[in-house]
Amino acid sequence: MNPLNILLWIGFGYLGGKFAAKKGYSPTYGVVLGVCFGPLWLLIALFLPKTGAAIEQDQFEKELAAAPKIANCPGCGKQIPYGSKVCPECEYQISK
Ligand SMILES: [Zn+2]
Repeated sequence: MNPLNILLWIGFGYLGGKFAAKKGYSPTYGVVLGVCFGPLWLLIALFLPKTGAAIEQDQFEKELAAAPKIANCPGCGKQIPYGSKVCPECEYQISK
């Protein structure tokens, strides 16, 4: 096998490991499998089901993205960044 093919093989395997890691599998395990199976592992990794931990992480990120980023100031009623302690418009102290 020529060196370029070996590099490609490892590259594909490494990518497969990365995909598997994104789905919640151990990155080390994924990369080792990748080096053994090369492009085949990349294909397998693409179709692997997500682990429970990865699904939970996804949901957490979705909730974070859906959280309100704007709030109304109780003092002047203007829209201010969510979580502000003092209103930038009227300097109303927002206690939580
Ligand atoms: Zn205000």
